[in-house]
Amino acid sequence: MKEKTCELCLRNPVQTTEHHLIPKQHGGTEGPTVILCSACHRQIHALFSNEELARFYHTPERLADHPAMQGYLKWVKKQDPAKRITTRKSHRKR
Ligand SMILES: [Zn+2]
Ligand SMILES: [Zn+2]
Repeated sequence: MKEKTCELCLRNPVQTTEHHLIPKQHGGTEGPTVILCSACHRQIHALFSNEELARFYHTPERLADHPAMQGYLKWVKKQDPAKRITTRKSHRKR
């Protein structure tokens, strides 16, 4: 992990991880990736199944456009990038 800018919440500098826009299980191993902070990365995988990611949510724009992501992004932008974020449980009801 390196310190870079997260492509979703645009916080900087943050510890980033690589997210495969098309999940590997759906043939995305060689596909495009985005650089995400661990909070955004976790949020995406909590919200979307690999199916959904492969079918529709395979661009950062589409991910950011989802109503649940918009609420999350608004919140996360106010968080200190240096701090490790614990994703709020209340974000998602199953
Ligand atoms: Zn982020
Ligand atoms: Zn991922």
